[in-house]
Amino acid sequence: MRNVSPWREPVPPGGTMGEPRARGRFGEYGGRYAPESLVEACREVDEAFREAWAEPGFRGSLARLLAVHAGRPTPLTPALRLSEALGVRLYLKREDLTHTGSHKINNVLGQALLAVRMGRRRLIAETGAGQHGVATATAAALLGLEATVFMGERDIERQALNVFRMRMLGAEVVPVTAGSRTLKDATSEAMRHWVGATGDSHYCIGSVVGPDPYPWMVREFQRVIGEEARGQCAAELRTGVPDYVVACVGGGSNAAGTFAGFADTPARLVGVEAEGGAGAARGRLGVMHGCRSLFLQDGDGQITQAHSIAAGLDYPGVGPEHAHLRDLGRARYVTVTDDEAVGAAVRLARTEGIVPALESAHALAWVIRAAGGGDLPAGSTVLMTLSGRGDKDVSTLKELL
Ligand SMILES: *Cc1c(COP(=O)(O)O)cnc(C)c1O
Repeated sequence: MRNVSPWREPVPPGGTMGEPRARGRFGEYGGRYAPESLVEACREVDEAFREAWAEPGFRGSLARLLAVHAGRPTPLTPALRLSEALGVRLYLKREDLTHTGSHKINNVLGQALLAVRMGRRRLIAETGAGQHGVATATAAALLGLEATVFMGERDIERQALNVFRMRMLGAEVVPVTAGSRTLKDATSEAMRHWVGATGDSHYCIGSVVGPDPYPWMVREFQRVIGEEARGQCAAELRTGVPDYVVACVGGGSNAAGTFAGFADTPARLVGVEAEGGAGAARGRLGVMHGCRSLFLQDGDGQITQAHSIAAGLDYPGVGPEHAHLRDLGRARYVTVTDDEAVGAAVRLARTEGIVPALESAHALAWVIRAAGGGDLPAGSTVLMTLSGRGDKDVSTLKELL
């Protein structure tokens, strides 16, 4: 499974996890399936991003914001007691320690800076549990932009604290009453709203999903996780590179950012999905939210509702680059159950003094299962991205424990 064949097409310009091919293609996935006005808006975002990303000045401004506002670099923490119990050497990349408590802020600060550069005065975003909405509201306040956040009515009921945080930060939270009243519908509604507002608003997507250039752009803004971790592993590990790199996958942004730092190494890449939201492990080819990728579907090809205890993994699809990495065999996608994730969260809390987000607990649950079942050979070094902190999940956990 290392370094991989069977390529169905030539390696793209930047190698694995470099730039996508023409029209935002990752293998047979990706693209820009959107109404004409949005195709034009995406083209403008693409052009602005390419230009900005090539400029040391833009990268410098973003790096400074990430340092002085978001708290980067985040530490690499050896999980000593848990490692000893599991017989592997586990290192945690601590995105839970960023401002607002998850990796979402990395992407949002990048897109907010881009929006300012494009002369936009407002950010539009979708949110499920509210983490991306809070990050967007935060970046908007910091840079003097307005924020409009679309959120399913059911999620608004379930995530009262994050709804209040967004409003406290000055954002407008718009309830979405369509469909299942959760993330999938909030995303559709946000895109629809953008159609009428492309002149003054930037659509700030929260993961490596949606029409080109979002999957690529969001991965580039999250690449900071993988690049920092690569340097930290080089300093910390005798071999310089871990044997395994593990991250949870909802849409796939924290995993993509992490994997990007190790794509050119022999490290084995593992994406961990929720059993009920396993787009990469069990999805079929389809188109949703402007992008061709793998989605959970019923017999008629209708995209179905995902179910996970972790709201951030409650998405029925996966970003197009993950679908491609899966096809290439460069990354492996596995699933864990709600119960395994809750067990892993408790175990991390009690062995390392860290309460993880339930999303991140999925990645850990796989490490625990794989170390016990021989999938992770004894003595392996494992880098795991801890995508967020668990404060937002206490009411869920309280009902279970
Ligand atoms: C949103 C979220 C995720 C899932 O999103 P990805 O794009 O797959 O990274 C994972 N963990 C946390 C803490 C989140 O807030």
